[in-house]
Amino acid sequence: MQYPLTFQEYQKALKQNRLLGLRCRTCGGVTCPPMMVCQECASPDVEVVQLSGRGTIATFTVSFVAPEGRENELPYTILLVELEEGPWIMGNLIDRDPRRIGMDIIGRRVEMSHRVFPGDKYSAGEAARPVFTIID
Ligand SMILES: [Zn+2]
Repeated sequence: MQYPLTFQEYQKALKQNRLLGLRCRTCGGVTCPPMMVCQECASPDVEVVQLSGRGTIATFTVSFVAPEGRENELPYTILLVELEEGPWIMGNLIDRDPRRIGMDIIGRRVEMSHRVFPGDKYSAGEAARPVFTIID
């Protein structure tokens, strides 16, 4: 079985602020981040599509405790975003002070860009990850 979208390809697109996902030819569902099969129906019949990178904040948490070696990033806000196309993805909120946000950000619209985070002892090295800004 072949990966329809490799992590490497997903990363390369992220570094250009393009969010790639998989659209299922069986059920129409969209999967992101990439998996081997459709996350809705497990069909392997999927095609790579570019997603808008826009969505709404479903929920969030603020972290004051970082993994070892990443204390310099604290504090930060981790969002769970429901994308316009359906899938939910995580990413940091970068345009609000984590000490000053509250429940009122839930439901706000956001747009994705990316940041490259350095590797640490718990990861396979440097990686681009989605980050979000509130757009209205
Ligand atoms: Zn499906």
